[in-house]
Amino acid sequence: MKLYDITVVGAGPAGMMAAIRAGQLGKNVILIERNDTLGKKLKITGSSRCNITNTASLDEFMEKFGKNGAFFRSAFATFSNRRLMSFFKDRGLKLKVEENGRVFPVTDKSRSVIMVLKDYLSENKVKRDYNTRLIKIKKKKDYFSLDLGNDNHIATKKVILATGGVSYPSTGSTGDGFEIAKKLGHKITPLKPGLVPLKASETWIKELQGITLQNVRLTFKYGKKKIISDKGNLIFTHYGISGPLVLDISNEIVSILKNETVSLFIDLKPEMTFPEIEEKLLSEFENRSKTEFKNLMKLFIPNRMIPIFTELLGIDPKKKANQVTKGERNSILNLLKAFPLTITDSLSIDKAMVTCGGVLKKEINPQTMESKIVSGIYFAGEIIDFCAPSGGYNLQEAFSTGYLAGESAAENLD
Ligand SMILES: Cc1cc2nc3c(=O)[nH]c(=O)nc-3n(C[C@H](O)[C@H](O)[C@H](O)COP(=O)(O)OP(=O)(O)OC[C@H]3O[C@@H](n4cnc5c(N)ncnc54)[C@H](O)[C@@H]3O)c2cc1C
Repeated sequence: MKLYDITVVGAGPAGMMAAIRAGQLGKNVILIERNDTLGKKLKITGSSRCNITNTASLDEFMEKFGKNGAFFRSAFATFSNRRLMSFFKDRGLKLKVEENGRVFPVTDKSRSVIMVLKDYLSENKVKRDYNTRLIKIKKKKDYFSLDLGNDNHIATKKVILATGGVSYPSTGSTGDGFEIAKKLGHKITPLKPGLVPLKASETWIKELQGITLQNVRLTFKYGKKKIISDKGNLIFTHYGISGPLVLDISNEIVSILKNETVSLFIDLKPEMTFPEIEEKLLSEFENRSKTEFKNLMKLFIPNRMIPIFTELLGIDPKKKANQVTKGERNSILNLLKAFPLTITDSLSIDKAMVTCGGVLKKEINPQTMESKIVSGIYFAGEIIDFCAPSGGYNLQEAFSTGYLAGESAAENLD
């Protein structure tokens, strides 16, 4: 049986980067992937445009990863967003920066990112084995025996597990790595959906499907506590709400939803104070005194929202502006500042963009990504327990931890 220096399991961004780095350091590396191609999930990232990273500073990165931040400091410092950008630019892949520091290839095609990774793999002589699924790892005296099913085995000195989470399982990420890590003695923290749309119980939500609200603010209330979002865009779906603003805050909301339902209030006019809206309402109602109420509301909310709005207010949509009472105007004001929804759940983890939870960080050395339970085993990417917002942070985590795992595994062989 041939003995490899390093076997990397999973050809997602973390696994590919780990294999490239170990290959660059002259090791004899094999990358095994259960699919018949590499980067199946990477291909669909950023709506197939691939938001590879963010221009944020190291400190901002730490902040985005919250209490997980410190663990990733070495990985981000070793292979930063700047180094990742140079890594792609060196191969002629031009990059551009969009809103909030999100970095994309100028081609707007994830395929071009995958092509560069493929080139690096070939150049560094990484052997690739597709349609190959790791089933089990057996520790032998001074190597690992990898069971690939059908009596197929590989012998290897080091293993880097980069099998991803359990989201979008059709891409190959079905949680195999968690089971394998568990059998090696690792703890897996509870898996939760991250960057996931939320469900609302209001039956009329279907009628709002497809409406985008721009620049709104969300206040989630539960018990006596509340969580307030930044301003951003929300999209109504047939079951509830989605869009960047919702996905980013969903990581926090999902944890609360375990125990209770959450009341959501959407501020449709976060730029305006109550008195400012009151004044605007009053002047519009006076200037257009003969206009029907439903037509006047077009000045304040998207057309398709008006029927639900009038129903919730209990105001006759055909009522003339000059017949709307002060009390009714106050209700309109309140609804504009706090449009209510009842959030009962999120979509399931297989429909979430990322998996929060995974291999317990305390059991991984953050300087090397090596297991503290079984030496010679390394972790990279989404298999590790963390939860980050959208904006390119998840892919940078995969690339940075992959790089560090590949480098440490290779250096450890010298
Ligand atoms: C729709 C969508 C859009 C996204 N967009 C972005 C974005 O624009 N920017 C961003 O930062 N993040 C984005 N993400 C998140 C990002 O894709 C993940 O964080 C990232 O892919 C994780 O990389 P990984 O290498 O750890 O795992 P994965 O990309 O999941 O790769 C794991 C690989 O391991 C293979 N594998 C699993 N088990 C085995 C086994 N037993 N044997 C062999 N191979 C195995 C799988 O087939 C898979 O190819 C998005 C996610 C989704 C679902």
